[in-house]
This record gives sequence, C-alpha cells and structure tokens, in this order.
Amino acid sequence: MRRKNVLITGGAGFIGSHLCEKLLFCGYRVICMDNLLTGRLLNIKHFAKNKNFIFIKHNVCEHITLKQEINYILHFASPASPADYLNYPIQTLKVGSLGTHNALGLARQKKAVFLLASTSEVYGDPLVHPQPESYWGNVNPIGPRGVYDEAKRFAEAITLAYHRVHKIDTKIVRIFNTYGPRMRKNDGRAIPNFISQALSNKDITVFGRGSQTRSFCYIDDLTDGIVKLMLSGVNEPVNLGNPAEFTVLELAKKIIALTATKSKVVFKPLPQDDPKVRCPDITKARKILRWQPSVSLSEGLMKTITYFKES
Ligand code: UDP
Repeated sequence: MRRKNVLITGGAGFIGSHLCEKLLFCGYRVICMDNLLTGRLLNIKHFAKNKNFIFIKHNVCEHITLKQEINYILHFASPASPADYLNYPIQTLKVGSLGTHNALGLARQKKAVFLLASTSEVYGDPLVHPQPESYWGNVNPIGPRGVYDEAKRFAEAITLAYHRVHKIDTKIVRIFNTYGPRMRKNDGRAIPNFISQALSNKDITVFGRGSQTRSFCYIDDLTDGIVKLMLSGVNEPVNLGNPAEFTVLELAKKIIALTATKSKVVFKPLPQDDPKVRCPDITKARKILRWQPSVSLSEGLMKTITYFKES
C-alpha cells in the first residue's frame, strides 16, 4: 500500500518531533515544517536521514506551497510555554491566526484531514472543575496569557468554520500539560525548570504558594491519543491529558525526591492570570477514542530526568 503523507507544522518542537517519530514508525511519510523560533533541529536529528522524512524551514504565517500530495495536516506550530509566548506575543497571535488560516487553506487545496493542536488554555482560569469540552472558559483577553489563549480560541473558531463552510474533515485536540524528553531545559515551564534546578542543586522556584494544580501527561500517552483522534471521525474538540491532579508544590517535592537533590523550594511571585486549577475531563476521549493515559507521573518524570541528565 502507498504511504500516506502527513505535514506536521511545528514538527521540530517538543510535541511535533514526537509526532514525527511516531508517524514515521506507523508507516507514514512525514513532512516537518518549522521556522525554528522555539523548535530545534536537535529534536529531529534522530530521523533526519530517514528517506520518508523531509524537513522544510518555513514560517506558516507565510503562504505555504507544497508540490506533494498531502493526506493529513497536523497543525502544531506555536510557542507553547508561558515564558515563550510572553517573549513572542505577536508571533504567537500571528501563528494562531494567520498560520492556522494558511494551514487550513492548504488542507482545502489538498483535500487533507486537518488536526489543530489546541490547548487547555482555552478554558483560561477555569470556574468549572475538571474541565469538560462543553465548558466555554474564563479567559482574560488582554492579560499576558491572552495572546496564546485567544490565538488558540480563534484557531478553533476558524477550524470549525472551514469544516462547516468548506467541509474540511477537521479534528481539534485540547492538549493539557504534557512533558517528557526534548523539552528545552530553559523553556520556563514547571517540569523542565524544576528538573534542571534539581540537577544543578539550585533553588526550586515555586510560584505563589504552590497550591495551584496541574495534571501532567507523559508525551507518549499524548501522541497515542493524537493519532487515534487523527484517524477518528470526530470533528469537534477533544481533551487529551492525564486526569491525575497535583499541586505545583507536590510536583516540586516529587522531583526533589526522584533526583535526590540538595535543592530547597523557594517561593516566587505568582504570574498574572496563572490558572488556579487545571484538570481534564477525559470522558469523551475514553468513550470515543478508547484512549486513556497509562504512564504515571513518577514513571514519566524518571524518563524525563534521565533525558535531562544525558543532554
Ligand atoms: N511554575 C512554578 N515555577 C516555575 C515554573 C512554573 O511554580 O519555575 C508554576 C506556574 O506558575 C504554574 C505551574 O507551575 O502554576 C505550571 O506552569 P507551566 O509554565 O508549566 O505551564 P502552565 O500550566 O501555566 O501553562
């Protein structure tokens, strides 16, 4: 059977590179597109020589022209760490709007299935807990996180408009906090920060009192769910994440224990609009995709700590 072609925008990023690897393994031909703003060639070097893999350096905010047949477009291009989207607010807004528009235009031209990487940030600082897909969210549009939250909310809106008007076969995954190898040590998120601080015996910087909660999904669980969604008939958003919920202080203590570090926790000011709670309701994914995560936080952290030690 002929290999199907998948375009992954943001393919050199943390999640994008794991998707490239998984889809190559599943027998697809992968076209990885990235402008390397926050993505890295280091993430894709393991399969760069695979004859079924192509890397194209391109900013998806510019028109995308591809000669190849494209069967699937997985649109993952965007800064995704709060520190990154604070550094690149305009690029974040542009990739979520103009970039998504271009990627959808390409999906229309190529008659490709289109999968949008959305986020739990569409729920903002949620007033409903845990968050089901039916919750509309509580987002401050003009706050520092608004550049990412609103870009992704716009991206969801235009994706479903293309589905309704142009009959594109769309999928939307709302990704909750995900971690694993290939995160940048300095990407600013809690897990890479805490692990690199612990491994160098520096203070572990907990923001606020550390009572805010997050639910952390290991990357391999997430990519399994994304491939299931890509092959499913579901056009509307689906949450993917691990519903095991921890406070940030619990996370810090777990990393201290797993690394046997001498580091101590220090408390720093809580960033503006930092969500107080976050936990996915994954009833829909369980039912429709028959998906649920299987990697525990301790197990996933150990694999991530090993990666950080070796890189
Ligand atoms: N956080 C922290 N210390 C850090 C980095 C993050 O306490 O050095 C907190 C952050 O305030 C948030 C949580 O950890 O409450 C998760 O932050 P992250 O940047 O990983 O992602 P978010 O879930 O906020 O998008």
